[in-house]
Amino acid sequence: MPDGFTPGPDEALRWLVEGNERWVAGELLHPHQTVARRRAVAAGQHPLATVFSCIDSRVPPEIVFDRGVGDLFVVRTAAQTNNGLVQGAVEYGAEEAVTPLVVVMGHQRCGAVTLAVETLNNGTEVPAHLVEVVEALRPAYEAARPLPGDQVDNTVHAQIRLTADQLREDPLLAPLVAGHRVRVLGAYYSLDSGCVDFLPS
Ligand SMILES: [Zn+2]
Repeated sequence: MPDGFTPGPDEALRWLVEGNERWVAGELLHPHQTVARRRAVAAGQHPLATVFSCIDSRVPPEIVFDRGVGDLFVVRTAAQTNNGLVQGAVEYGAEEAVTPLVVVMGHQRCGAVTLAVETLNNGTEVPAHLVEVVEALRPAYEAARPLPGDQVDNTVHAQIRLTADQLREDPLLAPLVAGHRVRVLGAYYSLDSGCVDFLPS
């Protein structure tokens, strides 16, 4: 993206789609990963998107979208479980830095979702703060439970959809979404192919 160019949601999405296509094809450009870029953004940032994704080591947003320094706000929790601190971080990106796109990205074979599904299916317990992760995933678990097919994958998709809906209804984000200044999209990352599928909103 040219420096000083302020994208709208559609332009920001196109930049992410094109970066992901390079990642899938193995034709990475590694943009904005130079000392010159570091110096250029030291005094101020204009990221093109906020990505809220899982902590999974195989799903690093800057790499799967082939972006660099100053390009993305990134919030990561286990299975992109949401709470007030996460939502405040996303609000900051959209309101203070005028980031036009918010992407909620879940992924194939998510370990945290697998843990929650097994725990809730079996009525077992998990230690310490993992209880909070499992409980945060309970709504997605319940939404996906009646569906045919792979229960973990269905729960991942439900978690993406529910979290994107929560962000669209956020009191600070909702007017920005209604005014087409900010777009909130769900996305699903395939560990096998590297492809990010953006989900209909
Ligand atoms: Zn995960």
